[in-house]
Amino acid sequence: MVSCESPGILVLTELVDNGLLTTRTRLLVGLAQYLTAGLHGELIALVTGNGAAKAAREAASLGVDTVLLADSPSFGTSGTEALAANICEVCAGLRPRLVVAPHTQAAQDFMPMVAFRLGTALVTDCVGITAREDSTLVFTKPIYGGNALAEFVSGSPTTLATVRIGSGREPTECGHAGSIVPVPVREGRYRLEVLESKHDEPSGPVLEEAGVVVAGGRGLGGPEGFDKLRGLADTLGGAVGASRPPCDLGWADPDTQVGITGKIVAPDIYIAVAISGSSQHLTGMSDSGTVVALNNDPDACIFNAADYGVVADWQQVLPAFSRKVRELLGS
Ligand SMILES: Cc1cc2nc3c(=O)[nH]c(=O)nc-3n(C[C@H](O)[C@H](O)[C@H](O)COP(=O)(O)OP(=O)(O)OC[C@H]3O[C@@H](n4cnc5c(N)ncnc54)[C@H](O)[C@@H]3O)c2cc1C
Repeated sequence: MVSCESPGILVLTELVDNGLLTTRTRLLVGLAQYLTAGLHGELIALVTGNGAAKAAREAASLGVDTVLLADSPSFGTSGTEALAANICEVCAGLRPRLVVAPHTQAAQDFMPMVAFRLGTALVTDCVGITAREDSTLVFTKPIYGGNALAEFVSGSPTTLATVRIGSGREPTECGHAGSIVPVPVREGRYRLEVLESKHDEPSGPVLEEAGVVVAGGRGLGGPEGFDKLRGLADTLGGAVGASRPPCDLGWADPDTQVGITGKIVAPDIYIAVAISGSSQHLTGMSDSGTVVALNNDPDACIFNAADYGVVADWQQVLPAFSRKVRELLGS
Protein backbone atom coordinates (compact mmCIF):
# COMPACT_ATOMS: atom_id res chain seq x y z
CA MET A 1 0.00 0.00 0.00
CA VAL A 2 1.39 3.44 -0.92
CA SER A 3 1.40 6.16 1.69
CA CYS A 4 2.39 9.80 1.82
CA GLU A 5 3.06 12.23 4.66
CA SER A 6 0.89 15.12 3.51
CA PRO A 7 -1.44 13.91 0.78
CA GLY A 8 -3.28 16.72 -0.96
CA ILE A 9 -4.56 16.05 -4.42
CA LEU A 10 -4.37 12.90 -6.49
CA VAL A 11 -4.68 13.44 -10.26
CA LEU A 12 -5.81 10.41 -12.28
CA THR A 13 -4.17 10.66 -15.67
CA GLU A 14 -5.31 9.70 -19.15
CA LEU A 15 -2.95 8.65 -21.91
CA VAL A 16 -3.11 8.94 -25.67
CA ASP A 17 -2.04 6.12 -28.00
CA ASN A 18 1.51 7.48 -28.28
CA GLY A 19 1.93 6.93 -24.53
CA LEU A 20 1.86 10.62 -23.57
CA LEU A 21 -0.65 12.50 -21.42
CA THR A 22 -3.77 13.94 -23.04
CA THR A 23 -4.09 17.72 -23.18
CA ARG A 24 -6.98 17.61 -20.70
CA THR A 25 -4.78 15.68 -18.25
CA ARG A 26 -2.08 18.35 -18.52
CA LEU A 27 -4.66 21.07 -17.87
CA LEU A 28 -6.00 19.11 -14.92
CA VAL A 29 -2.49 18.91 -13.45
CA GLY A 30 -2.36 22.71 -13.79
CA LEU A 31 -5.66 23.10 -11.91
CA ALA A 32 -4.52 20.67 -9.21
CA GLN A 33 -1.22 22.57 -8.89
CA TYR A 34 -3.16 25.79 -8.29
CA LEU A 35 -5.44 24.15 -5.70
CA THR A 36 -2.56 22.40 -3.94
CA ALA A 37 -0.99 25.76 -3.13
CA GLY A 38 -4.04 26.58 -0.98
CA LEU A 39 -4.35 23.13 0.56
CA HIS A 40 -0.72 22.72 1.66
CA GLY A 41 -0.53 19.11 0.59
CA GLU A 42 1.44 17.15 -1.94
CA LEU A 43 0.40 16.95 -5.56
CA ILE A 44 0.40 13.33 -6.62
CA ALA A 45 -0.42 11.83 -10.02
CA LEU A 46 -1.35 8.23 -10.69
CA VAL A 47 -0.27 7.06 -14.13
CA THR A 48 -1.85 3.76 -15.12
CA GLY A 49 -1.40 1.86 -18.35
CA ASN A 50 0.46 -0.71 -20.33
CA GLY A 51 3.87 0.85 -21.05
CA ALA A 52 3.17 4.11 -19.23
CA ALA A 53 6.72 5.08 -18.20
CA LYS A 54 6.91 7.87 -20.79
CA ALA A 55 3.71 9.46 -19.47
CA ALA A 56 5.03 9.16 -15.90
CA ARG A 57 8.16 11.12 -16.91
CA GLU A 58 5.97 13.72 -18.58
CA ALA A 59 3.80 14.07 -15.44
CA ALA A 60 6.93 14.41 -13.28
CA SER A 61 8.18 17.22 -15.53
CA LEU A 62 4.93 19.18 -15.04
CA GLY A 63 5.61 19.92 -11.40
CA VAL A 64 3.84 16.99 -9.76
CA ASP A 65 5.57 16.14 -6.44
CA THR A 66 5.20 12.38 -6.77
CA VAL A 67 4.13 10.30 -9.74
CA LEU A 68 2.84 6.84 -8.89
CA LEU A 69 3.40 4.54 -11.84
CA ALA A 70 1.15 1.50 -12.13
CA ASP A 71 2.34 -0.21 -15.28
CA SER A 72 0.73 -3.49 -16.31
CA PRO A 73 -0.65 -5.20 -19.44
CA SER A 74 -3.84 -5.90 -17.47
CA PHE A 75 -4.92 -2.28 -17.97
CA GLY A 76 -5.21 -3.07 -21.65
CA THR A 77 -7.36 -6.16 -21.16
CA SER A 78 -9.56 -5.51 -18.15
CA GLY A 79 -11.27 -2.24 -19.01
CA THR A 80 -12.23 0.16 -16.28
CA GLU A 81 -12.67 -2.49 -13.57
CA ALA A 82 -8.91 -2.94 -13.22
CA LEU A 83 -8.51 0.83 -13.09
CA ALA A 84 -11.16 1.19 -10.38
CA ALA A 85 -9.61 -1.57 -8.27
CA ASN A 86 -6.14 -0.03 -8.46
CA ILE A 87 -7.33 3.52 -7.84
CA CYS A 88 -9.15 2.28 -4.71
CA GLU A 89 -5.96 0.59 -3.52
CA VAL A 90 -3.95 3.81 -3.97
CA CYS A 91 -6.62 6.01 -2.35
CA ALA A 92 -6.92 3.68 0.65
CA GLY A 93 -3.20 4.12 1.32
CA LEU A 94 -2.89 7.83 0.50
CA ARG A 95 -6.19 9.21 1.83
CA PRO A 96 -5.98 12.35 -0.36
CA ARG A 97 -8.29 15.31 0.17
CA LEU A 98 -9.26 15.36 -3.48
CA VAL A 99 -9.07 12.89 -6.37
CA VAL A 100 -9.60 14.41 -9.81
CA ALA A 101 -9.93 12.89 -13.28
CA PRO A 102 -10.75 14.43 -16.66
CA HIS A 103 -14.50 14.13 -17.36
CA THR A 104 -14.27 11.38 -19.99
CA GLN A 105 -16.54 8.46 -20.83
CA ALA A 106 -14.08 6.12 -19.10
CA ALA A 107 -14.04 8.32 -15.97
CA GLN A 108 -17.84 8.32 -15.91
CA ASP A 109 -17.50 4.54 -15.69
CA PHE A 110 -14.73 4.04 -13.12
CA MET A 111 -15.22 7.07 -10.81
CA PRO A 112 -18.66 5.93 -9.51
CA MET A 113 -17.16 2.47 -8.84
CA VAL A 114 -14.32 4.05 -6.86
CA ALA A 115 -16.67 6.39 -4.96
CA PHE A 116 -18.97 3.51 -4.05
CA ARG A 117 -16.14 1.27 -2.85
CA LEU A 118 -14.52 4.05 -0.81
CA GLY A 119 -17.92 5.17 0.50
CA THR A 120 -17.16 8.74 -0.47
CA ALA A 121 -18.61 11.65 -2.45
CA LEU A 122 -18.21 12.15 -6.19
CA VAL A 123 -18.96 15.41 -8.03
CA THR A 124 -19.08 14.83 -11.80
CA ASP A 125 -18.64 17.24 -14.70
CA CYS A 126 -17.19 20.12 -12.66
CA VAL A 127 -16.54 23.35 -14.50
CA GLY A 128 -14.65 24.76 -11.55
CA ILE A 129 -13.07 23.76 -8.25
CA THR A 130 -11.91 26.42 -5.81
CA ALA A 131 -10.56 26.37 -2.26
CA ARG A 132 -12.02 28.80 0.28
CA GLU A 133 -9.78 30.50 2.82
CA ASP A 134 -10.63 27.83 5.41
CA SER A 135 -9.55 25.31 2.70
CA THR A 136 -13.10 24.04 2.08
CA LEU A 137 -13.30 22.85 -1.50
CA VAL A 138 -16.14 24.24 -3.62
CA PHE A 139 -17.20 22.31 -6.71
CA THR A 140 -19.14 24.11 -9.47
CA LYS A 141 -21.14 22.12 -12.00
CA PRO A 142 -23.92 22.76 -14.52
CA ILE A 143 -27.43 21.65 -13.58
CA TYR A 144 -30.85 21.68 -15.30
CA GLY A 145 -29.38 20.72 -18.66
CA GLY A 146 -26.72 23.39 -18.40
CA ASN A 147 -29.17 26.23 -17.71
CA ALA A 148 -27.74 26.98 -14.26
CA LEU A 149 -24.56 26.45 -12.26
CA ALA A 150 -24.62 24.96 -8.75
CA GLU A 151 -21.92 24.99 -6.10
CA PHE A 152 -21.35 21.94 -3.91
CA VAL A 153 -19.20 21.31 -0.86
CA SER A 154 -18.44 17.84 0.39
CA GLY A 155 -18.27 16.61 3.97
CA SER A 156 -16.19 13.54 3.04
CA PRO A 157 -12.51 13.41 4.07
CA THR A 158 -11.75 12.35 0.47
CA THR A 159 -13.82 13.79 -2.38
CA LEU A 160 -13.75 12.59 -5.98
CA ALA A 161 -14.42 14.88 -8.94
CA THR A 162 -14.39 14.72 -12.72
CA VAL A 163 -13.46 17.98 -14.42
CA ARG A 164 -14.68 19.17 -17.78
CA ILE A 165 -12.16 19.93 -20.50
CA GLY A 166 -11.75 23.69 -20.75
CA SER A 167 -11.93 24.09 -16.97
CA GLY A 168 -8.29 23.26 -16.32
CA ARG A 169 -5.27 25.56 -16.60
CA GLU A 170 -1.76 25.28 -18.00
CA PRO A 171 0.68 23.93 -15.38
CA THR A 172 3.20 26.51 -14.19
CA GLU A 173 6.92 25.88 -14.58
CA CYS A 174 8.35 24.82 -11.22
CA GLY A 175 11.92 24.08 -12.28
CA HIS A 176 12.16 20.63 -10.77
CA ALA A 177 10.94 17.17 -11.72
CA GLY A 178 8.90 15.14 -9.28
CA SER A 179 9.89 11.65 -8.23
CA ILE A 180 8.48 8.57 -9.93
CA VAL A 181 7.48 5.73 -7.64
CA PRO A 182 6.43 2.40 -9.16
CA VAL A 183 3.43 0.94 -7.31
CA PRO A 184 2.35 -2.70 -7.27
CA VAL A 185 -0.55 -3.41 -9.60
CA ARG A 186 -3.41 -5.42 -8.22
CA GLU A 187 -3.98 -8.13 -10.80
CA GLY A 188 -7.20 -10.04 -10.64
CA ARG A 189 -9.99 -11.67 -12.54
CA TYR A 190 -12.42 -9.04 -13.69
CA ARG A 191 -15.89 -9.58 -15.06
CA LEU A 192 -15.03 -7.65 -18.19
CA GLU A 193 -12.32 -8.83 -20.54
CA VAL A 194 -11.32 -6.71 -23.54
CA LEU A 195 -10.73 -9.19 -26.37
CA GLU A 196 -9.89 -6.76 -29.14
CA SER A 197 -9.59 -3.00 -29.64
CA LYS A 198 -10.13 -1.40 -33.01
CA HIS A 199 -9.15 2.18 -33.68
CA ASP A 200 -10.63 4.22 -36.47
CA GLU A 201 -7.96 5.63 -38.76
CA PRO A 202 -7.61 9.16 -37.40
CA SER A 203 -8.50 11.59 -40.17
CA GLY A 204 -7.84 14.65 -38.05
CA PRO A 205 -7.59 15.69 -34.42
CA VAL A 206 -9.67 14.06 -31.70
CA LEU A 207 -12.93 16.00 -31.29
CA GLU A 208 -12.41 16.87 -27.62
CA GLU A 209 -8.87 18.10 -28.24
CA ALA A 210 -9.40 19.91 -31.56
CA GLY A 211 -8.63 23.61 -31.84
CA VAL A 212 -11.38 24.01 -34.44
CA VAL A 213 -14.72 22.18 -34.50
CA VAL A 214 -17.10 22.44 -37.47
CA ALA A 215 -20.44 21.09 -36.26
CA GLY A 216 -23.63 20.38 -38.15
CA GLY A 217 -27.25 20.06 -37.13
CA ARG A 218 -30.54 18.72 -38.42
CA GLY A 219 -30.80 21.67 -40.80
CA LEU A 220 -28.07 20.09 -42.97
CA GLY A 221 -30.82 17.81 -44.23
CA GLY A 222 -28.78 14.63 -44.70
CA PRO A 223 -25.38 12.92 -44.52
CA GLU A 224 -24.08 14.72 -47.63
CA GLY A 225 -23.98 17.96 -45.66
CA PHE A 226 -21.48 16.38 -43.28
CA ASP A 227 -19.12 15.59 -46.20
CA LYS A 228 -19.03 19.33 -46.89
CA LEU A 229 -18.33 20.09 -43.22
CA ARG A 230 -15.53 17.50 -43.26
CA GLY A 231 -13.88 19.36 -46.16
CA LEU A 232 -13.93 22.63 -44.22
CA ALA A 233 -12.73 20.94 -41.01
CA ASP A 234 -9.82 19.31 -42.88
CA THR A 235 -8.79 22.67 -44.36
CA LEU A 236 -8.79 24.21 -40.89
CA GLY A 237 -7.06 21.21 -39.28
CA GLY A 238 -10.15 20.68 -37.16
CA ALA A 239 -12.70 18.01 -36.27
CA VAL A 240 -16.34 17.53 -37.25
CA GLY A 241 -19.02 17.63 -34.55
CA ALA A 242 -22.79 17.21 -34.65
CA SER A 243 -25.91 17.95 -32.68
CA ARG A 244 -27.92 14.97 -31.52
CA PRO A 245 -30.53 14.59 -34.30
CA PRO A 246 -27.99 13.92 -37.10
CA CYS A 247 -26.39 11.24 -34.90
CA ASP A 248 -29.78 9.66 -34.11
CA LEU A 249 -30.69 9.78 -37.81
CA GLY A 250 -27.44 8.07 -38.84
CA TRP A 251 -26.10 11.08 -40.78
CA ALA A 252 -23.15 11.50 -38.43
CA ASP A 253 -21.10 9.15 -36.25
CA PRO A 254 -22.60 9.04 -32.71
CA ASP A 255 -19.05 9.66 -31.44
CA THR A 256 -19.25 13.17 -32.89
CA GLN A 257 -22.28 14.25 -30.83
CA VAL A 258 -21.63 17.43 -28.88
CA GLY A 259 -23.76 18.20 -25.86
CA ILE A 260 -24.97 17.13 -22.50
CA THR A 261 -25.34 13.50 -23.59
CA GLY A 262 -22.41 13.69 -26.01
CA LYS A 263 -18.92 15.11 -25.96
CA ILE A 264 -17.88 18.28 -24.17
CA VAL A 265 -15.60 20.38 -26.37
CA ALA A 266 -13.72 23.62 -25.87
CA PRO A 267 -12.05 24.53 -29.17
CA ASP A 268 -10.64 27.95 -29.99
CA ILE A 269 -13.18 28.18 -32.83
CA TYR A 270 -16.60 26.47 -32.97
CA ILE A 271 -18.51 26.75 -36.24
CA ALA A 272 -22.17 25.74 -35.82
CA VAL A 273 -23.92 25.09 -39.12
CA ALA A 274 -27.73 24.67 -39.14
CA ILE A 275 -27.85 24.02 -35.40
CA SER A 276 -30.68 25.69 -33.45
CA GLY A 277 -28.73 26.03 -30.18
CA SER A 278 -30.72 24.01 -27.66
CA SER A 279 -29.49 24.18 -24.06
CA GLN A 280 -28.50 20.50 -24.32
CA HIS A 281 -26.23 21.31 -27.25
CA LEU A 282 -24.83 24.55 -25.80
CA THR A 283 -23.79 22.69 -22.63
CA GLY A 284 -21.31 20.75 -24.75
CA MET A 285 -19.61 23.73 -26.42
CA SER A 286 -20.11 26.74 -24.15
CA ASP A 287 -16.41 26.85 -23.21
CA SER A 288 -15.43 27.41 -26.87
CA GLY A 289 -13.37 30.49 -27.69
CA THR A 290 -14.97 32.10 -30.73
CA VAL A 291 -18.35 30.79 -31.88
CA VAL A 292 -19.53 31.28 -35.47
CA ALA A 293 -23.16 30.38 -36.24
CA LEU A 294 -24.75 29.86 -39.64
CA ASN A 295 -28.55 29.48 -39.58
CA ASN A 296 -31.43 30.60 -41.80
CA ASP A 297 -33.60 31.53 -38.80
CA PRO A 298 -32.63 34.96 -37.36
CA ASP A 299 -34.32 33.99 -34.06
CA ALA A 300 -32.35 30.76 -33.60
CA CYS A 301 -30.98 30.51 -30.03
CA ILE A 302 -27.51 29.69 -31.33
CA PHE A 303 -27.06 33.37 -32.21
CA ASN A 304 -27.25 34.24 -28.48
CA ALA A 305 -24.14 32.11 -27.95
CA ALA A 306 -22.33 33.28 -31.10
CA ASP A 307 -19.62 35.90 -31.55
CA TYR A 308 -20.30 35.99 -35.29
CA GLY A 309 -23.60 35.06 -36.92
CA VAL A 310 -24.65 34.58 -40.53
CA VAL A 311 -28.39 34.43 -41.29
CA ALA A 312 -28.55 32.43 -44.51
CA ASP A 313 -29.11 29.08 -46.13
CA TRP A 314 -25.97 27.06 -45.36
CA GLN A 315 -25.92 25.62 -48.90
CA GLN A 316 -25.43 29.09 -50.31
CA VAL A 317 -22.83 30.30 -47.84
CA LEU A 318 -20.69 27.30 -46.89
CA PRO A 319 -19.10 26.60 -50.31
CA ALA A 320 -17.99 30.23 -50.70
CA PHE A 321 -16.82 30.35 -47.08
CA SER A 322 -14.80 27.13 -47.52
CA ARG A 323 -13.30 28.46 -50.76
CA LYS A 324 -12.25 31.70 -49.05
CA VAL A 325 -10.69 29.83 -46.13
CA ARG A 326 -8.69 27.64 -48.56
CA GLU A 327 -7.60 30.77 -50.45
CA LEU A 328 -6.49 32.53 -47.24
CA LEU A 329 -4.61 29.47 -46.00
CA GLY A 330 -3.13 28.89 -49.43
CA SER A 331 -4.29 25.27 -49.49
C1 LIG B 1 -32.24 14.40 -22.31
C2 LIG B 1 -31.83 15.06 -23.58
C3 LIG B 1 -30.50 15.09 -23.92
C4 LIG B 1 -30.08 15.71 -25.11
N1 LIG B 1 -28.77 15.75 -25.41
C5 LIG B 1 -28.36 16.43 -26.51
C6 LIG B 1 -26.99 16.57 -26.81
O1 LIG B 1 -26.10 16.05 -26.12
N2 LIG B 1 -26.63 17.28 -27.90
C7 LIG B 1 -27.57 17.86 -28.72
O2 LIG B 1 -27.18 18.52 -29.70
N3 LIG B 1 -28.88 17.73 -28.46
C8 LIG B 1 -29.31 17.02 -27.39
N4 LIG B 1 -30.63 16.87 -27.14
C9 LIG B 1 -31.58 17.32 -28.18
C10 LIG B 1 -31.86 18.81 -28.10
O3 LIG B 1 -32.94 19.04 -27.21
C11 LIG B 1 -32.27 19.37 -29.48
O4 LIG B 1 -33.38 18.65 -29.96
C12 LIG B 1 -31.15 19.27 -30.49
O5 LIG B 1 -29.97 19.84 -30.00
C13 LIG B 1 -31.56 20.01 -31.77
O6 LIG B 1 -30.62 19.75 -32.76
P1 LIG B 1 -30.50 20.71 -34.03
O7 LIG B 1 -30.23 22.08 -33.57
O8 LIG B 1 -29.54 20.07 -34.96
O9 LIG B 1 -31.93 20.56 -34.70
P2 LIG B 1 -33.14 21.58 -34.77
O10 LIG B 1 -33.55 22.06 -33.44
O11 LIG B 1 -34.16 20.92 -35.64
O12 LIG B 1 -32.53 22.83 -35.54
C14 LIG B 1 -32.15 22.82 -36.88
C15 LIG B 1 -31.72 24.23 -37.21
O13 LIG B 1 -31.29 24.27 -38.55
C16 LIG B 1 -31.73 25.48 -39.14
N5 LIG B 1 -31.82 25.26 -40.58
C17 LIG B 1 -32.68 24.48 -41.27
N6 LIG B 1 -32.42 24.51 -42.57
C18 LIG B 1 -31.35 25.35 -42.73
C19 LIG B 1 -30.61 25.79 -43.86
N7 LIG B 1 -30.90 25.35 -45.09
N8 LIG B 1 -29.59 26.63 -43.65
C20 LIG B 1 -29.27 27.09 -42.40
N9 LIG B 1 -29.95 26.69 -41.30
C21 LIG B 1 -30.98 25.82 -41.46
C22 LIG B 1 -33.08 25.76 -38.51
O14 LIG B 1 -33.39 27.14 -38.54
C23 LIG B 1 -32.84 25.26 -37.08
O15 LIG B 1 -32.39 26.32 -36.25
C24 LIG B 1 -31.06 16.27 -25.98
C25 LIG B 1 -32.40 16.24 -25.61
C26 LIG B 1 -32.78 15.63 -24.45
C27 LIG B 1 -34.23 15.62 -24.09
